[in-house]
Amino acid sequence: MIDVVIIGAGTAGLTAALYANRAGLKVLVIEKLMFGGQITNTPVIENYPAIPNVSGFDFVQTLYKQAITDFKTPIVYEEIKECDFDSDIKKITTNKNVYEAKTVIIAAGAEHRMLGCTGEKEYKGMGVSYCATCDGAFFRGKSVCVVGGGNTALQDAKYLSNHCEKVYLIHRRDTFRATKIEVESALKKENIIPVYDSVVEEIYGEKGQVHGVKVKNTKTSDVQDIKVDGVFVAVGLAPSSDKFDVLCDDSGYIVAGEDCKTNKKGVFVAGDIRTKKVRQLVTAAADGAVSAENALEYINK
Ligand code: NAP
Repeated sequence: MIDVVIIGAGTAGLTAALYANRAGLKVLVIEKLMFGGQITNTPVIENYPAIPNVSGFDFVQTLYKQAITDFKTPIVYEEIKECDFDSDIKKITTNKNVYEAKTVIIAAGAEHRMLGCTGEKEYKGMGVSYCATCDGAFFRGKSVCVVGGGNTALQDAKYLSNHCEKVYLIHRRDTFRATKIEVESALKKENIIPVYDSVVEEIYGEKGQVHGVKVKNTKTSDVQDIKVDGVFVAVGLAPSSDKFDVLCDDSGYIVAGEDCKTNKKGVFVAGDIRTKKVRQLVTAAADGAVSAENALEYINK
Protein backbone atom coordinates (compact mmCIF):
# COMPACT_ATOMS: atom_id res chain seq x y z
CA MET A 1 0.00 0.00 0.00
CA ILE A 2 1.29 3.47 -0.92
CA ASP A 3 1.66 5.73 2.12
CA VAL A 4 1.30 9.02 0.28
CA VAL A 5 0.24 9.93 -3.21
CA ILE A 6 1.51 13.40 -4.11
CA ILE A 7 -0.47 15.04 -6.89
CA GLY A 8 1.69 17.58 -8.72
CA ALA A 9 5.46 17.83 -9.17
CA GLY A 10 6.05 21.55 -8.78
CA THR A 11 8.02 23.04 -5.90
CA ALA A 12 5.38 22.09 -3.29
CA GLY A 13 4.93 18.52 -4.56
CA LEU A 14 8.64 17.84 -4.98
CA THR A 15 9.42 19.22 -1.52
CA ALA A 16 6.65 17.03 -0.08
CA ALA A 17 8.25 14.04 -1.86
CA LEU A 18 11.65 14.96 -0.40
CA TYR A 19 10.31 15.11 3.16
CA ALA A 20 8.10 12.02 2.79
CA ASN A 21 11.03 10.01 1.39
CA ARG A 22 13.31 11.14 4.19
CA ALA A 23 10.60 10.06 6.68
CA GLY A 24 10.68 6.58 5.13
CA LEU A 25 7.22 6.74 3.58
CA LYS A 26 6.29 4.88 0.42
CA VAL A 27 5.63 7.66 -2.09
CA LEU A 28 4.06 7.93 -5.52
CA VAL A 29 4.07 11.22 -7.43
CA ILE A 30 1.46 11.85 -10.11
CA GLU A 31 2.11 14.72 -12.54
CA LYS A 32 -0.08 15.78 -15.45
CA LEU A 33 2.51 17.26 -17.81
CA MET A 34 6.09 18.07 -16.85
CA PHE A 35 7.74 18.21 -13.44
CA GLY A 36 8.79 21.61 -12.17
CA GLY A 37 5.61 23.65 -12.23
CA GLN A 38 5.41 27.37 -12.82
CA ILE A 39 8.84 28.31 -11.48
CA THR A 40 10.46 26.50 -14.42
CA ASN A 41 9.58 29.50 -16.61
CA THR A 42 11.04 32.14 -14.29
CA PRO A 43 14.27 33.50 -15.78
CA VAL A 44 15.94 34.41 -12.47
CA ILE A 45 14.84 33.68 -8.90
CA GLU A 46 16.09 36.49 -6.70
CA ASN A 47 14.18 35.98 -3.46
CA TYR A 48 14.82 32.41 -2.33
CA PRO A 49 16.81 32.55 0.91
CA ALA A 50 20.55 31.89 0.51
CA ILE A 51 20.26 31.21 -3.25
CA PRO A 52 20.44 34.77 -4.58
CA ASN A 53 20.54 34.05 -8.30
CA VAL A 54 19.33 30.87 -9.91
CA SER A 55 17.20 30.25 -12.97
CA GLY A 56 13.85 28.54 -12.42
CA PHE A 57 15.01 25.74 -14.71
CA ASP A 58 18.16 25.04 -12.69
CA PHE A 59 16.26 25.26 -9.40
CA VAL A 60 13.77 22.65 -10.60
CA GLN A 61 16.44 20.29 -11.96
CA THR A 62 18.25 20.34 -8.61
CA LEU A 63 15.05 19.81 -6.62
CA TYR A 64 13.97 16.96 -8.92
CA LYS A 65 17.30 15.18 -8.41
CA GLN A 66 17.11 15.68 -4.65
CA ALA A 67 13.48 14.53 -4.28
CA ILE A 68 12.94 12.02 -7.09
CA THR A 69 16.17 10.72 -8.68
CA ASP A 70 18.18 10.28 -5.46
CA PHE A 71 15.34 8.35 -3.76
CA LYS A 72 14.27 6.50 -6.94
CA THR A 73 10.77 7.84 -6.24
CA PRO A 74 8.14 6.48 -8.64
CA ILE A 75 6.63 9.29 -10.72
CA VAL A 76 3.90 8.77 -13.32
CA TYR A 77 2.70 11.25 -15.94
CA GLU A 78 -1.06 10.83 -15.82
CA GLU A 79 -4.11 13.04 -15.56
CA ILE A 80 -6.39 12.91 -12.53
CA LYS A 81 -9.95 12.03 -13.46
CA GLU A 82 -11.58 11.39 -10.11
CA CYS A 83 -10.74 11.04 -6.43
CA ASP A 84 -12.53 9.40 -3.53
CA PHE A 85 -11.27 10.71 -0.21
CA ASP A 86 -14.17 9.60 2.00
CA SER A 87 -12.74 6.29 3.27
CA ASP A 88 -9.55 5.51 5.20
CA ILE A 89 -8.07 4.23 1.95
CA LYS A 90 -7.99 7.08 -0.57
CA LYS A 91 -8.71 6.23 -4.19
CA ILE A 92 -7.21 8.24 -7.07
CA THR A 93 -8.35 7.50 -10.61
CA THR A 94 -6.22 8.78 -13.49
CA ASN A 95 -6.63 8.44 -17.25
CA LYS A 96 -4.56 5.23 -17.00
CA ASN A 97 -4.76 3.70 -13.51
CA VAL A 98 -6.48 3.57 -10.15
CA TYR A 99 -4.22 4.11 -7.13
CA GLU A 100 -4.93 3.51 -3.45
CA ALA A 101 -3.07 5.23 -0.65
CA LYS A 102 -3.24 5.96 3.06
CA THR A 103 -2.85 9.71 2.50
CA VAL A 104 -2.86 12.24 -0.33
CA ILE A 105 -1.06 15.55 -0.74
CA ILE A 106 -2.66 17.77 -3.37
CA ALA A 107 -0.01 20.04 -4.87
CA ALA A 108 -1.57 20.50 -8.29
CA GLY A 109 -0.82 24.23 -8.50
CA ALA A 110 -2.66 26.72 -10.62
CA GLU A 111 -3.06 27.46 -14.31
CA HIS A 112 -2.74 30.71 -16.23
CA ARG A 113 -5.88 32.78 -16.15
CA MET A 114 -7.14 33.95 -19.54
CA LEU A 115 -8.03 37.53 -20.40
CA GLY A 116 -11.30 36.60 -22.03
CA CYS A 117 -11.15 39.33 -24.69
CA THR A 118 -11.99 39.03 -28.39
CA GLY A 119 -9.21 37.34 -30.38
CA GLU A 120 -7.43 35.76 -27.40
CA LYS A 121 -8.47 32.20 -28.17
CA GLU A 122 -8.09 32.71 -31.92
CA TYR A 123 -4.47 33.87 -31.67
CA LYS A 124 -3.39 31.65 -28.75
CA GLY A 125 -0.05 30.15 -29.80
CA MET A 126 0.06 32.47 -32.84
CA GLY A 127 1.11 35.66 -31.09
CA VAL A 128 -0.76 35.27 -27.82
CA SER A 129 1.41 33.63 -25.16
CA TYR A 130 1.25 32.91 -21.43
CA CYS A 131 4.99 32.29 -21.02
CA ALA A 132 7.53 35.02 -21.78
CA THR A 133 10.58 32.83 -21.23
CA CYS A 134 9.19 30.12 -23.53
CA ASP A 135 8.14 32.38 -26.40
CA GLY A 136 9.97 35.69 -25.94
CA ALA A 137 12.77 34.86 -28.38
CA PHE A 138 10.24 34.56 -31.24
CA PHE A 139 9.65 38.31 -30.92
CA ARG A 140 13.26 39.47 -31.15
CA GLY A 141 13.37 43.06 -32.45
CA LYS A 142 9.56 43.34 -32.50
CA SER A 143 7.02 45.16 -30.35
CA VAL A 144 4.93 43.25 -27.85
CA CYS A 145 2.65 43.95 -24.92
CA VAL A 146 2.38 42.36 -21.51
CA VAL A 147 -1.02 42.46 -19.82
CA GLY A 148 -1.14 42.44 -16.02
CA GLY A 149 0.28 44.25 -13.01
CA GLY A 150 1.58 41.50 -10.74
CA ASN A 151 5.10 40.18 -10.21
CA THR A 152 4.81 37.87 -13.21
CA ALA A 153 3.82 40.70 -15.57
CA LEU A 154 6.63 42.94 -14.37
CA GLN A 155 9.22 40.16 -14.61
CA ASP A 156 7.93 39.17 -18.05
CA ALA A 157 8.16 42.77 -19.24
CA LYS A 158 11.77 43.00 -18.05
CA TYR A 159 12.67 39.72 -19.71
CA LEU A 160 11.01 40.72 -22.99
CA SER A 161 12.67 44.14 -22.97
CA ASN A 162 15.98 42.35 -23.56
CA HIS A 163 14.67 40.83 -26.80
CA CYS A 164 12.07 43.25 -28.09
CA GLU A 165 12.14 46.75 -29.45
CA LYS A 166 9.20 47.95 -27.35
CA VAL A 167 7.25 46.35 -24.53
CA TYR A 168 3.90 47.94 -23.64
CA LEU A 169 2.91 47.04 -20.10
CA ILE A 170 -0.88 47.27 -19.95
CA HIS A 171 -2.43 47.35 -16.50
CA ARG A 172 -6.03 47.95 -15.50
CA ARG A 173 -5.14 50.28 -12.60
CA ASP A 174 -2.67 53.14 -12.08
CA THR A 175 -0.56 51.29 -9.51
CA PHE A 176 1.01 47.89 -9.92
CA ARG A 177 0.33 44.94 -7.64
CA ALA A 178 3.93 43.76 -7.99
CA THR A 179 6.56 44.45 -5.33
CA LYS A 180 8.31 47.84 -5.28
CA ILE A 181 11.64 46.35 -6.33
CA GLU A 182 10.09 44.65 -9.40
CA VAL A 183 8.22 47.82 -10.41
CA GLU A 184 11.25 50.10 -10.03
CA SER A 185 13.59 47.88 -12.00
CA ALA A 186 11.05 47.36 -14.79
CA LEU A 187 10.21 51.05 -15.16
CA LYS A 188 13.91 51.91 -15.39
CA LYS A 189 14.02 50.11 -18.74
CA GLU A 190 13.63 52.66 -21.52
CA ASN A 191 11.77 50.33 -23.88
CA ILE A 192 9.08 49.35 -21.32
CA ILE A 193 6.12 51.65 -21.81
CA PRO A 194 3.48 51.49 -19.06
CA VAL A 195 -0.14 51.88 -20.16
CA TYR A 196 -2.17 52.50 -17.00
CA ASP A 197 -5.91 52.28 -16.32
CA SER A 198 -6.36 50.22 -19.42
CA VAL A 199 -7.96 46.93 -20.41
CA VAL A 200 -7.45 44.98 -23.62
CA GLU A 201 -10.75 44.73 -25.45
CA GLU A 202 -9.54 43.04 -28.59
CA ILE A 203 -6.50 41.28 -30.00
CA TYR A 204 -6.57 41.55 -33.76
CA GLY A 205 -4.51 40.33 -36.65
CA GLU A 206 -4.56 38.68 -40.01
CA LYS A 207 -3.68 35.28 -41.44
CA GLY A 208 -2.77 33.80 -38.05
CA GLN A 209 -0.54 36.72 -37.01
CA VAL A 210 -1.23 39.31 -34.33
CA HIS A 211 -1.04 42.91 -35.53
CA GLY A 212 -2.20 44.78 -32.46
CA VAL A 213 -4.51 45.33 -29.51
CA LYS A 214 -7.45 47.65 -28.91
CA VAL A 215 -7.13 49.01 -25.41
CA LYS A 216 -9.82 50.89 -23.53
CA ASN A 217 -9.00 53.47 -20.86
CA THR A 218 -11.14 52.65 -17.83
CA LYS A 219 -11.37 56.30 -16.75
CA THR A 220 -12.02 58.07 -20.06
CA SER A 221 -13.43 55.13 -22.11
CA ASP A 222 -11.09 56.21 -24.94
CA VAL A 223 -9.97 53.31 -27.12
CA GLN A 224 -6.32 53.22 -28.16
CA ASP A 225 -4.87 51.05 -30.93
CA ILE A 226 -1.44 49.68 -30.06
CA LYS A 227 0.46 47.90 -32.85
CA VAL A 228 2.19 44.80 -31.50
CA ASP A 229 3.29 41.45 -32.88
CA GLY A 230 2.83 39.56 -29.63
CA VAL A 231 0.63 39.65 -26.56
CA PHE A 232 1.88 38.16 -23.29
CA VAL A 233 -0.93 37.56 -20.84
CA ALA A 234 0.08 37.61 -17.15
CA VAL A 235 -3.17 38.23 -15.30
CA GLY A 236 -2.72 35.70 -12.54
CA LEU A 237 -3.58 32.14 -11.86
CA ALA A 238 -6.61 29.95 -11.40
CA PRO A 239 -6.29 26.91 -9.12
CA SER A 240 -6.53 23.44 -10.68
CA SER A 241 -8.87 22.06 -8.03
CA ASP A 242 -11.94 20.87 -9.95
CA LYS A 243 -11.11 17.14 -9.71
CA PHE A 244 -10.79 17.13 -5.92
CA ASP A 245 -13.76 16.60 -3.66
CA VAL A 246 -12.53 18.84 -0.85
CA LEU A 247 -13.70 22.18 0.49
CA CYS A 248 -12.70 25.12 -1.76
CA ASP A 249 -13.26 28.85 -1.44
CA ASP A 250 -15.24 30.92 -3.97
CA SER A 251 -12.18 31.25 -6.24
CA GLY A 252 -11.51 27.50 -6.24
CA TYR A 253 -8.55 27.46 -3.83
CA ILE A 254 -8.56 24.46 -1.48
CA VAL A 255 -9.32 25.61 2.04
CA ALA A 256 -6.60 24.81 4.59
CA GLY A 257 -4.58 26.67 7.19
CA GLU A 258 -0.82 26.63 7.70
CA ASP A 259 -1.12 22.97 8.79
CA CYS A 260 -2.12 22.14 5.19
CA LYS A 261 -5.03 19.95 6.40
CA THR A 262 -8.11 19.91 4.14
CA ASN A 263 -11.61 19.13 5.39
CA LYS A 264 -11.01 15.43 4.53
CA LYS A 265 -8.98 13.32 6.97
CA GLY A 266 -5.67 12.17 5.53
CA VAL A 267 -5.84 14.65 2.65
CA PHE A 268 -3.43 17.58 2.68
CA VAL A 269 -2.87 20.50 0.32
CA ALA A 270 0.37 22.30 -0.51
CA GLY A 271 1.47 25.27 -2.61
CA ASP A 272 -0.40 27.73 -4.80
CA ILE A 273 -3.62 25.68 -4.84
CA ARG A 274 -4.12 26.27 -1.08
CA THR A 275 -5.91 29.29 0.39
CA LYS A 276 -3.09 31.54 1.57
CA LYS A 277 -1.92 35.11 1.51
CA VAL A 278 1.61 34.76 0.19
CA ARG A 279 2.08 32.62 -2.93
CA GLN A 280 5.83 32.38 -3.27
CA LEU A 281 8.42 29.72 -3.97
CA VAL A 282 9.45 29.72 -0.34
CA THR A 283 5.88 29.21 0.92
CA ALA A 284 5.30 26.43 -1.63
CA ALA A 285 8.39 24.65 -0.32
CA ALA A 286 7.26 25.23 3.28
CA ASP A 287 3.83 23.73 2.51
CA GLY A 288 5.53 20.69 0.97
CA ALA A 289 7.44 20.07 4.20
CA VAL A 290 4.45 20.69 6.49
CA SER A 291 2.06 18.51 4.48
CA ALA A 292 4.53 15.59 4.38
CA GLU A 293 5.18 15.81 8.13
CA ASN A 294 1.42 15.90 8.81
CA ALA A 295 0.85 12.94 6.47
CA LEU A 296 3.48 11.02 8.46
CA GLU A 297 1.80 11.96 11.76
CA TYR A 298 -1.61 10.88 10.40
CA ILE A 299 -0.26 7.49 9.26
CA ASN A 300 1.50 6.88 12.58
CA LYS A 301 -1.69 7.61 14.52
P1 NAP B 1 -1.24 38.23 -9.44
O1 NAP B 1 -0.26 38.68 -8.40
O2 NAP B 1 -2.55 37.67 -9.02
O3 NAP B 1 -1.48 39.49 -10.40
C1 NAP B 1 -2.38 39.42 -11.46
C2 NAP B 1 -2.43 40.78 -12.13
O4 NAP B 1 -3.28 40.70 -13.25
C3 NAP B 1 -2.98 41.87 -11.20
O5 NAP B 1 -2.24 43.05 -11.37
C4 NAP B 1 -4.41 42.03 -11.68
O6 NAP B 1 -4.88 43.35 -11.57
C5 NAP B 1 -4.31 41.68 -13.14
N1 NAP B 1 -5.55 41.09 -13.65
C6 NAP B 1 -6.25 40.04 -13.16
N2 NAP B 1 -7.29 39.74 -13.96
C7 NAP B 1 -7.24 40.63 -14.99
C8 NAP B 1 -8.05 40.84 -16.14
N3 NAP B 1 -9.10 40.07 -16.41
N4 NAP B 1 -7.71 41.84 -16.98
C9 NAP B 1 -6.62 42.61 -16.72
N5 NAP B 1 -5.82 42.46 -15.66
C10 NAP B 1 -6.14 41.48 -14.80
O7 NAP B 1 -0.61 37.12 -10.44
P2 NAP B 1 0.91 36.80 -10.83
O8 NAP B 1 1.66 38.02 -11.14
O9 NAP B 1 0.84 35.72 -11.84
O10 NAP B 1 1.50 36.17 -9.51
C11 NAP B 1 0.89 35.02 -8.91
C12 NAP B 1 1.55 34.79 -7.54
O11 NAP B 1 2.90 34.40 -7.72
C13 NAP B 1 1.55 36.04 -6.69
O12 NAP B 1 1.36 35.69 -5.36
C14 NAP B 1 2.93 36.60 -6.90
O13 NAP B 1 3.40 37.41 -5.85
C15 NAP B 1 3.75 35.33 -7.06
N6 NAP B 1 4.96 35.60 -7.86
C16 NAP B 1 6.07 36.02 -7.19
C17 NAP B 1 7.21 36.32 -7.88
C18 NAP B 1 8.41 36.80 -7.12
O14 NAP B 1 8.53 36.54 -5.98
N7 NAP B 1 9.30 37.54 -7.67
C19 NAP B 1 7.25 36.22 -9.26
C20 NAP B 1 6.10 35.83 -9.94
C21 NAP B 1 4.94 35.53 -9.21
P3 NAP B 1 -5.18 44.01 -10.13
O15 NAP B 1 -3.84 44.32 -9.55
O16 NAP B 1 -5.98 45.19 -10.47
O17 NAP B 1 -5.95 42.97 -9.35
